[in-house]
Amino acid sequence: MAPSLEDIRPAFDLKGRNFIVTGGAQGIGFAAARAICEMGGNVAVLDIQEKPVDEFDTLSSHFGAKTFYVQADVVNEESLNRGFAQAVEHLGTVDGLVPAAGIAIDKPFVDQTWDEFTRIQEINLAAKQMIKQGSGGSMVLLASQTAHCAIPGHRMAAYNMSKGGVFMLSKALAVELAPHNIRVNTISPGFVDSEMLQRVKAAKIPREAQQMEISPPMKRLSNANDLTGAIVYLLSDAARFTTAADIPITGGLHAGTIDGL
Ligand code: NAD
Repeated sequence: MAPSLEDIRPAFDLKGRNFIVTGGAQGIGFAAARAICEMGGNVAVLDIQEKPVDEFDTLSSHFGAKTFYVQADVVNEESLNRGFAQAVEHLGTVDGLVPAAGIAIDKPFVDQTWDEFTRIQEINLAAKQMIKQGSGGSMVLLASQTAHCAIPGHRMAAYNMSKGGVFMLSKALAVELAPHNIRVNTISPGFVDSEMLQRVKAAKIPREAQQMEISPPMKRLSNANDLTGAIVYLLSDAARFTTAADIPITGGLHAGTIDGL
């Protein structure tokens, strides 16, 4: 017998669900936090900055969401533990995580230091909390086009390595956490016009900077809002059987080489 068909719209709903976004003071993390609120979810943001962008304060009145902001450094164990515990206390439960805190390092490999490698403790804390709750969950990790290829003109070996690591980490965690009904997926953005990208661009010669805009077949940088549909989808029940997947969001950049044409 054919299964009866269900309405698709409610599956995307995040109503009553609670999410933690790290690095959500601005950029991609903030766009994710805003999209979660718009879809009915509540959000706690952890970020190293003292304050988020002004629009953060409007999320609760605008969307009726429960929001919480705490200053925390995700690579400092004590600071992260404290911030995470406050976020959980505020939200009550955690149904999903978007770990968007990150830095870009664009300098020759031989000049890079140990401190410039990504740490992943926030994922560990979220997994522990979700396992304790026993009601499953979803994590959307920020990989990158740089997880899949090195880009000419970019000196980002540590970044490539950390994003490649995030990509494979998501596969391993998806397998390990599946028995707990916790799904783990990645998105792989190309060049997203955020402060991070502005910093990277500022350090480049004009031709390399321009290449970022003209290389994607769709011929523009992306913006953080180009990513939120995929993030909401992966967090929601619409993706209930999707785990260990990666969604490239690059304007087609991943389909070929970058030659600036
Ligand atoms: P962004 O610099 O605009 O935002 C990053 C946020 O992370 C900032 O609010 C910053 O304060 C916070 N942060 C940095 N270090 C932190 C720490 N130790 N503890 C807590 N918070 C910290 O950058 P973005 O472009 O929004 O990047 C978000 C994520 O997306 C990163 O993981 C990045 O690698 C990834 N990404 C970005 C691009 C791009 O082109 N911008 C492309 C692919 C992937």
